[in-house]
This record gives sequence, structure tokens and C-alpha cells, in this order.
Amino acid sequence: MLNAKGMNSSDLRQKNRGLVLKLVATQEYASRISITRETGLSKMTVTNIVSELINENFLIQASSKKSGGAGRNPVLLDISPQAPVILGFYISRLHIEAAISNLKGKLLWRESVPLKDENALSLEEKLINLAKAAVRRAENRILGVGVSAIGPLEQNDGVLINPTNFYGIEDFPVRALLERVCKAKVYVSNDTNAAALAELLLGAGKELDNFIYIGISSGIGAGIVSQKELYQNGSDYAGELGHTIIKYDGELCACGNRGCLELYANIQTLSQKLALAGGLAAGTVSPQNFEELSLNKKCDEIFSDMAVKLSYALINAVNLFNPQKILLGHEGGMLPQKYISQMEEYVNKHIFAAKVNKVKIERAYFGEDSPLYGGVCCVLNQLFNGDIFL
Ligand SMILES: [Zn+2]
Repeated sequence: MLNAKGMNSSDLRQKNRGLVLKLVATQEYASRISITRETGLSKMTVTNIVSELINENFLIQASSKKSGGAGRNPVLLDISPQAPVILGFYISRLHIEAAISNLKGKLLWRESVPLKDENALSLEEKLINLAKAAVRRAENRILGVGVSAIGPLEQNDGVLINPTNFYGIEDFPVRALLERVCKAKVYVSNDTNAAALAELLLGAGKELDNFIYIGISSGIGAGIVSQKELYQNGSDYAGELGHTIIKYDGELCACGNRGCLELYANIQTLSQKLALAGGLAAGTVSPQNFEELSLNKKCDEIFSDMAVKLSYALINAVNLFNPQKILLGHEGGMLPQKYISQMEEYVNKHIFAAKVNKVKIERAYFGEDSPLYGGVCCVLNQLFNGDIFL
């Protein structure tokens, strides 16, 4: 069967409306003129779409930019304060975070509840209470709800299948629960892909064509962006960088293999080793202490060792995808700059394209908040693609 989907004029109109909204939401100065120039749409089409979006309370005309030159300054457009809002959630092993965001990805409210010794019922109660609080706080219509969650998950049904070390909870129906409370469409994605989307739309990946977002937390995952598109094949099992093998006769991993990267480079193991080396009580080290601990000689060696191990996996990833940048996020965004620079140097010395290409390694723009912004961006991405009926 032919694997193609045609586009009706109403679909095309939605695509163009999404594109106009994207340019206004993600650029500092957007005008009808700049939108016409960037989209290649006719002046008339842009004028009509902008008028519709102003009438529907999505856009407003902001003040003119002082250009200083001759002639009239273009009228600038902005997202209306009355425009609908987005609810974003991030479900990790340790907490659930919720936020209300405007269409520019600016958080208007956020709250977090810790998770500890949960079961399916207590988790459901925490999620529902947080969602109710978000709905109460939302002053404008809720356009959609985006959830970034630990995987593996069934993306279409919005169900967390069986995350490891997640209190034994399986088949948790996030989408159904949130749709009931929020009365809006719910989009669910794994946290690493969602975080990569946040960097692509609003963060350090805005100007890039190809990059890899690496989320380092209790596990390690990669969100791969190729030609400005998130690599997804519908299975939710792509980008499992944490289960690439860096030591074939190494320790046994929960996945059944030996020597997986995330056994050696996850944040919990790092924190435990740092506590031991720094003479601190177990469980007292968090990513907020990393910078300070890096001054301790023994801790410095532990960080450097982790940087080398991460580098091996990054060399493999760079050889496979040849990205322009690698962005480190989740708690990995809290690693001291010194070790990020070490990794960049090591990786660039050992990649296949070392003589012709350099890859930059840096912190993600949203740092440890990337997955929460990622939840928001699951909805923004649909909106900007014209896939949400406005
Ligand atoms: Zn593994």
C-alpha cells in the first residue's frame, strides 16, 4: 500500500497557522513582513492568518520596534496574554513536576511533589492532585497537556509500561488519568525525547540541524535530532544510549547485558562514590554539591573517570550520527564545566572525523529542567506543526 497521506486545503491552512504561531512564539521580533520573508507565503495569506489569530485571541499587535532608519517601522506581533495555555508534566522516579506555560514556553506556575515508596494508587492520587492544582491555577483555556515521563511507554495510549526501579508500578495510564482531570488532549513522550524537543524549539538547538540531547539521571538516554526533526520510530526504544556497552565483560545490567554505560555513569552511583570519597554520609550528595565537591582531589578523580566513560559512549554516538552538538541535560546539566570540557576534548580526539569535524559538547539550555519544558513542548510541537485544531 502507498505510504502517503494527502493534504486538503483545510490541513494546509492549519499548517500555515501553526507556522505563523511558531515564528511569533519563538522569535523576539516577528512582524507580518518577517513572517512573509521567512515562510515564503504570500503577503495576503500572512495578513489573513494574522488577522484570524488576533481575532481568536492568540496574537496581539505589540509596540513597533524602533529601527532608527527611514520609513515606517513594522508592527510587531506577540502572543496574546489571553491566549490559551499549556500544562506540562514531568514524571521521574523521584518526583512529579507540573507547570503552566504560555505559548512561548514561559512558565507561569510550577509545582513539584516528591515520590517515595509509591504504589499505583498513591501515584495516581499524587498525579491527580497536582493536575487539579494546575487546572485551578490556569487563568486561560487549556490548549493541551504534555507529559514527559520515564519509559518505556506506549506513546499513543499514554501508558507507562514497566519502568525499572519504579516501585514495581506497571501499565500506569497517565493519559487517561490526565484527560479526565484536565479535559484537554494529552500528549505523552519519553522524557529524553521531550527534552530534546524543548532544546530544538526553544533552547540550545534552535539554530542547529543535527544534535543529540543526552539526559543523565538515574539512567541515561539520548534524544536524537536529525535535520531539525526528532528521530522517532514509534517504538520508544530508540536512543537507549545508557544500554550501549562500554565494557563487554563488565558488571551485569538489569537489561541482561554486561558493561552498559549507565551502570558506570548514572547520577546516583556518582553521588554515592562522591559521598564516600568526600567523607560524607551516604545519601547526602546531590547534583547541587557537584561544583563544590569537584575541588576535592579524590572527588575530582571520580568525576574525571565518569567523564572518560561517558566519552566512550559519546564517541560511538558521534560516529553514528555526526551531530553538530551534544547537549547534556537532566541532572547531567549540573556536571561542572571542567568535565564537560574534558569530554569535548577527549571525544574530538577520538572520533572518526577528528581531522575534519569538531563536535561541541555543552549544557542543555534548560539544564536539569529540560524534561519539564519537554512536557510543555510535546504540545507546542503539535501546535506549531498545525496538528492541533485551534
Ligand atoms: Zn543495560
